[in-house]
Amino acid sequence: MAELRHLSCVAALAVLLGGCPSATPEAAVDLDGSQLPAVSDAAVALTDAGAAAPDAAAALLDASAETPDAAETPTDAGDIPPDAAVVLDAGEATPDASAPADASMPDAAAPDASMPDAAATVDAALPDPCADVMCPANAACVAQPTARCVCNEGYTGTLCDTCSAGFVVATDGDCIPPVKLALPMDNQDGGYIDPPVIGFDNDPDDAFLDTSCRAHDGRAFPACYDQHSGTDFMLNGGFDTMDNGSTHVLAAADGVVVYVRDGEFDRCRLDIFQGGVVCPGHDTITPANRIILEHRDGKRTSYLHLKKDSVLVALGDVVLCGQHIALVGSSGNSSAPHLHMTLTDAEGQNRDPYSGVGSQPETHWVEQDAPNGLPGTVCQ
Ligand SMILES: [Zn+2]
Repeated sequence: MAELRHLSCVAALAVLLGGCPSATPEAAVDLDGSQLPAVSDAAVALTDAGAAAPDAAAALLDASAETPDAAETPTDAGDIPPDAAVVLDAGEATPDASAPADASMPDAAAPDASMPDAAATVDAALPDPCADVMCPANAACVAQPTARCVCNEGYTGTLCDTCSAGFVVATDGDCIPPVKLALPMDNQDGGYIDPPVIGFDNDPDDAFLDTSCRAHDGRAFPACYDQHSGTDFMLNGGFDTMDNGSTHVLAAADGVVVYVRDGEFDRCRLDIFQGGVVCPGHDTITPANRIILEHRDGKRTSYLHLKKDSVLVALGDVVLCGQHIALVGSSGNSSAPHLHMTLTDAEGQNRDPYSGVGSQPETHWVEQDAPNGLPGTVCQ
């Protein structure tokens, strides 16, 4: 346990209205059923005609009987029942699949038993009920039951300019789900990470003893150590493994490289006789090689103690989750080769990526409890 007392790694750096607009007045008028030709009136007219010419009337009435659908009664294009247009346009303008489900709103693309058969005969030139509907950004027009704007998934408010519950504002202004993390170190066939991880200290008290800490699941030292600002993944085999090629540090999520430091001595280690970490050949603990990534929701992940000259990315690079960004080393205030990953929220506060009784209810891992007691490797 003693060597775990000095694993301390330097932390890298230290909407609102409900509902969418209802149908526009134009759309409401277009969809007003009162404009439908009244079949019964037509029948009366035809019957009246029949009084003067009974045979013709019979023929006309027969014709009318064969075309019960209002849409099929002889009318010019301008009189075609709006419902027919709705059926056509609904098919063409299927609501955005990402739009929030509305239990009260029938699926415009779904067959409607009450819909006339007119769909089969509609003219492609029929007006689109959404044609004159101007929706705000992050919204799409839905034709049924009346043409209206529906916010895209993740957005709410009259102008669809507010993030829905469970979504956060991205650095580019979009509403996105919170970024979640994948295992940040390549465990290959399971042999590179020596579990368990050494966790973030959720105990706010600073204590004299490194043993004063609380891991996400409530465990004390050595599951964590005092004031530990991140999560440590120990390299199985230590310096021997490091000297045999080490293993890759992986981007825990898509992001942009916002800080890089490389070229520093990478063989710092715990010296129990010195009572702490030493960096042989140096008078003081040398700086850690590190990479900091910024993710789309403003969170940052920092990767410390990297092997000298192993950094594979440059400032400003866009990286993908799982991408190799460096090798595990032991630079900086490091007792042995390992990766220290720090998660910082958009406000700059260090966070425990794990959920649990000692931390917050929501995990920041895509999969917190994967095999081997490690987070999962699957990216968000
Ligand atoms: Zn650490």
